[in-house]
Amino acid sequence: MPIATVNPANGETLKTFDELDAGQIEQRLAAAHAAFRSHRTTGFAERARLLDRAADLLDQDRDDIARTMTLEMGKPIAAARAEAAKCAKAMRWYARNAERLLADEHPSQDDVEDAGASRARVHYRPLGVVLAVMPWNFPLWQVVRFAAPALMAGNAGLLKHASNVPQTALYLGDLFRRAGFPEGVFQTLLVSSRAVEGILRDPRIAAATLTGSEPAGRAVAAVAGDEVKKTVLELGGSDPFVVMPSADVERAAAVAVTARVQNNGQSCIAAKRFLVHADVHEEFTRAFTARMAALTVGDPLSESTDVGPLATEQGRADVEELVEDALGRGATALCGGRRPQGLPDGLARGWFFEPTVLTGITPEMRIHREEAFGPVATVYRVRDLDDAVELANDTPFGLSSNVWTRDEAEQERFVRDIEAGGVFFNGMTASHPALPFGGVKRSGYGRELSGHGIREFCNTTTVWHA
Ligand code: NAP
Repeated sequence: MPIATVNPANGETLKTFDELDAGQIEQRLAAAHAAFRSHRTTGFAERARLLDRAADLLDQDRDDIARTMTLEMGKPIAAARAEAAKCAKAMRWYARNAERLLADEHPSQDDVEDAGASRARVHYRPLGVVLAVMPWNFPLWQVVRFAAPALMAGNAGLLKHASNVPQTALYLGDLFRRAGFPEGVFQTLLVSSRAVEGILRDPRIAAATLTGSEPAGRAVAAVAGDEVKKTVLELGGSDPFVVMPSADVERAAAVAVTARVQNNGQSCIAAKRFLVHADVHEEFTRAFTARMAALTVGDPLSESTDVGPLATEQGRADVEELVEDALGRGATALCGGRRPQGLPDGLARGWFFEPTVLTGITPEMRIHREEAFGPVATVYRVRDLDDAVELANDTPFGLSSNVWTRDEAEQERFVRDIEAGGVFFNGMTASHPALPFGGVKRSGYGRELSGHGIREFCNTTTVWHA
């Protein structure tokens, strides 16, 4: 993929960029390595001062960077502004909490003596320069949720962002520099995915984090494994959204729409499979379909747009193929199922797809097991709680899950049995700096955010005194 900004709303190429050459990559690696050696010795107060400054700058830049994101990947402008605000909040959260999260841990005196020590503690030190390979779908947030804890822990970061969001990528490098982080502590590398292996094998890179698709995760983890370097992988998801009879069905249907079409349907933690108890199936499906069909599809720069274009032409083709495969094998589209008709001339070449609700899904349809990365929902009927759990887990993914029930015994069964990194009751999955985020199965491993996230790229050091 060339490194370029191409507006998904009309297919127009707005700006192209040259890839860094080998010499420029070497310069940045050397700068990152040198910067890490001094950054690791700074205190939490100094790092927090710089991160707070980055948050203030981001708040000031909010409208401009939101517009850039929308032009690069098509998210509705209001959501782009909200993403920028969320990033500033996460920066401030880590600025305030990193020292506490990385405080020394002290085993009990009995255990210390049993280990033959007079004193012992667990101390967290930074790992080094971390390579971050990031996706376009939340082009600020995915990076900040790595960078804020990593920099607070004393690591340095090198960002290889997705090739279709180069202006957002460059903005991030600038942001940390303008905030006062020393040269080299956080840098953007405009490189293609082909360059990743060489960079990751460089001895100056300590670890890698990747958010993106399963093939990309597998490729990066294979190289990191060969080099015995730590990785965190945040990959795809096909989260279930279970509705049981005790649920507030109208509210569930309203939230279901947001949970499915947020970010034009391109969120890893979007609810993608709607598993609805037979007793409320008809009521939920009717309300959900009516709301999906009523969404406004159009120009993502307009405040009134609910669903913009998909970020890439290939992304739309992938979604279209999944829907056609399902329809060809007997599924029914209750709404949508195709490209929208009658868009204004200026948007006719954009990569839009109608909000779609499919029923009659069977296991041989691709969409039953693959991630639908667009505004396409599948609705299933389940007989009872066991059936719901079984279907919820009948996926290669395990990122998060949403369950609508007011029955506490049922809630505990879902907590025990759903194979996912999160269970959200009577609401939709969303990330928060204080709560760990990540998945199991093919959704990846490791956690971001909270204390779990900041400790991923730390050297957990045992300090023992005779
Ligand atoms: P992608 O194609 O995997 O790209 C993600 C990043 O990986 C990009 O920077 C890409 O660079 C790079 N990349 C791709 N192939 C690579 C390879 N073989 N070696 C090294 N780097 C490689 O994913 P996407 O289409 O941007 O994002 C969509 C996917 O990300 C979905 O599956 C979604 O669920 C997942 N996602 C997961 C989370 C989570 O937190 N779990 C969050 C958001 C998205 P280029 O752009 O240059 O190819």
